[in-house]
Amino acid sequence: MIFITLRDIRDTCGDTFYKRGKNYYEAGRVRNLVYDEMENCYTAEVKGSKSYEVRIEFDEEAFIVDSDCTCPAFEDYGSCKHVAATLVAISRLGQKDIVKDQPRHPVQSNPIDIDLILDSILKKQPAQLQRLRFW
Ligand SMILES: [Zn+2]
Repeated sequence: MIFITLRDIRDTCGDTFYKRGKNYYEAGRVRNLVYDEMENCYTAEVKGSKSYEVRIEFDEEAFIVDSDCTCPAFEDYGSCKHVAATLVAISRLGQKDIVKDQPRHPVQSNPIDIDLILDSILKKQPAQLQRLRFW
């Protein structure tokens, strides 16, 4: 089982793609999410104006080692909303399992470290700095 956190998705895709990807996921655009145990990767089909194939590969520690999408944006940016949407879908798979084992009112054990998140966004996407100033 692979657990992905919000931070993993943002680190991989950046904040903008994460937000668009989450919308895509919530609109039910992620289809055919399949886990390949041999390759330790997930594949999915994400429907937008066209259908794109997403592939996300993990290492033994469940860290994301590689992602791929057939859309044009991926070629330009090395990531895209389809990859983000697929990661959100995978993270939700994990959460269902966690919920089963947790007490009804779980203590928040993972406080969000905003400095770390901002830091990682800024490192990967300096253009975001401009936007953050307006927040
Ligand atoms: Zn894509």
